[in-house]
Amino acid sequence: MIDLHCHSTVSDGRLSPAEVVRLAHANGCTLLSLTDHDHTGGLAEARAEADLLSLRFVNGVEVSVTWRGRTIHIVGLDFDERDEKLQNLLADVRKGRLKRLETIAEKLAKKGIHGAYEGALALAANPEMVSRTHVAEFLINQGHVRNKQQAFTKYLGDGKPCSVRHDWADLGECVAALNGAGGMAVIAHPMRYDLSATAKRNLFEEFKSLGGAGIEVHSGNCSKNDRLNYALLAERYGLLASAGSDFHRLNDFSGGILGACPELPENCRPVWTQFRQTVS
Ligand code: AMP
Ligand code: MN
Ligand code: MN
Ligand code: MN
Repeated sequence: MIDLHCHSTVSDGRLSPAEVVRLAHANGCTLLSLTDHDHTGGLAEARAEADLLSLRFVNGVEVSVTWRGRTIHIVGLDFDERDEKLQNLLADVRKGRLKRLETIAEKLAKKGIHGAYEGALALAANPEMVSRTHVAEFLINQGHVRNKQQAFTKYLGDGKPCSVRHDWADLGECVAALNGAGGMAVIAHPMRYDLSATAKRNLFEEFKSLGGAGIEVHSGNCSKNDRLNYALLAERYGLLASAGSDFHRLNDFSGGILGACPELPENCRPVWTQFRQTVS
């Protein structure tokens, strides 16, 4: 039972790193990575808890990247978190979230929704990591939308009225930093981007040529058909296959069950076969 993508309160998840590990273990997980957005601050706590439970744990992070004007997420796995270049890249990516929140709040105010800046910040355990998820939770709590999905389709999603363009890390620099720290780069939830077949081919080819290792063949609550499709694409582009729940909180139906991803199709070469010996 494997899960190589999930979140804690260090970014936009609701459980602490130790709680994430305990729940994954309770769900039968045997290999876990915690992949908070742009931040490795939860890894030490998660690893310590995984050690107590004899659950195999690998370092993880989900880096926000801008590729040809679009936001793409790259999961980094099995890297040395002390690597200075990687930490500098992550620190750079984290800059600007508060500024972006200010602009989002201004756009919401024009729609008659006030107090989003303070409201979202109050929900973020880590102000540096305040995200659209926190704004969505604010909108739900205030009764403006029924659920997270609606918050994104109505206001916050890319191209929606209150979305704000933002420049994240460069794809090549992100892959180089992860590889330089001894890790691997994986394209997160490829089935979630609104990319044409051509754009997807360009992304996969460029990612591979930059030294990218794999793609998530399973993510969240994607379909079996998605897994089969992305397993074929991974094979075609010579990429390894990863699997992650993208868990953020309990009772969030867009994420999968924490710690318990379905099996990958047989033609996959799993990323974890290439992990360094990090049995804990
Ligand atoms: P941010 O990094 O602040 O732009 O926030 C991105 C986060 O918002 C993602 O990690 C997801 O947790 C969430 N998110 C983005 N788009 C959607 C969507 N369409 N539906 C639900 N959650 C989303
Ligand atoms: Mn998130
Ligand atoms: Mn993501
Ligand atoms: Mn994620």
